[in-house]
Amino acid sequence: MEEIIVIGSGCAGMGAAIYAARAGMNPLVLEGSQPGGLLTTTSDVENFPGFPEAVNGFELVWKMREQAQKFGARVESAVVEKVDFSGGVKKLFCLGGKIYEARKIVIATGSSPRMTGAKGEAELYGGRGVSACATCDGAFYRNKDVAVIGGGDSACEEALFLTRFCSSVKIVHRRDRFRASKIMAERVLENPKISPVWDSVLEEVFADESGLCRGIAVKNVKTGAVSEIPCKGVFIAIGHVPNTSAFRGAVDMDAEGYIVPHGGTLVKTDVENVFVAGDCSDKTFRQAVTASAMGCMASILASA
Ligand SMILES: Cc1cc2nc3c(=O)[nH]c(=O)nc-3n(C[C@H](O)[C@H](O)[C@H](O)COP(=O)(O)OP(=O)(O)OC[C@H]3O[C@@H](n4cnc5c(N)ncnc54)[C@H](O)[C@@H]3O)c2cc1C
Repeated sequence: MEEIIVIGSGCAGMGAAIYAARAGMNPLVLEGSQPGGLLTTTSDVENFPGFPEAVNGFELVWKMREQAQKFGARVESAVVEKVDFSGGVKKLFCLGGKIYEARKIVIATGSSPRMTGAKGEAELYGGRGVSACATCDGAFYRNKDVAVIGGGDSACEEALFLTRFCSSVKIVHRRDRFRASKIMAERVLENPKISPVWDSVLEEVFADESGLCRGIAVKNVKTGAVSEIPCKGVFIAIGHVPNTSAFRGAVDMDAEGYIVPHGGTLVKTDVENVFVAGDCSDKTFRQAVTASAMGCMASILASA
């Protein structure tokens, strides 16, 4: 039986692994189907403290992994499908039939941005013009025209954030009014840099000859008319899905499936010795630095 298993090998998982390893807990990390997590899908990370010249996302998270391994963390390839947290021994049932047991668990399985599935979206995702994170990538579109897809609070927040850098922001929404809170919607509508494109959905993202985004096609859902919007970036803001289906019924989650923190901390779950870190619990900040920090907190509490 393991002393502690960290589920997930992104920033949160590796933050947890570094602290658990240095606390002498000999952690085992189960890396899941995306070794290194979401940060491996981006090139330049300019906001992780300590890297004034920016750092490649893959390199950053791989350095965290090396650091954890240096202190004794072990990494295995396994995807957790189901868990039993009812007793003192926590059981993890993995794809392929392998079962792991541990006294303590850190869940760090992240969340996946929901995408539209439009033509060209996947091909241009991650550094070629399609992004799911304005906080992360907005600064790369300084003085450029961009589009945001979505109409909820996060889409409005992304659009407003992008006005700090971009020349213009089109916000494409499938209805004729925002789903966002009144105050957010008003801020967007009052901002001279933002113009809404109502009743419309993303149909296609076009690449230029260098393989970078040059514009999008949107379809009016009422008339069926398709029009083109020239832009260098498109930010998909239609929500995230937490990767927590394996833990349903085992720990407290909100209606969207985010694991709810307990005990006046950010990282304790409602189950003793089961901790949580990163984007599978945090739907506000979703940053590499905050995820790593939550991993640190989880392991410090686990080792107490
Ligand atoms: C395009 C893009 C650019 C970004 N740029 C930046 C940036 O510049 N700066 C910044 O701070 N943040 C950035 N982010 C956000 C950052 O990547 C995330 O906040 C961070 O990766 C969250 O870390 P995490 O460990 O919580 O989750 P993730 O990185 O998503 O890691 C989740 C891990 O859990 C594993 N996993 C999932 N399910 C299971 C399972 N059932 N069993 C076992 N393992 C499982 C996965 O394989 C993965 O290893 C960006 C995100 C995107 C999408």
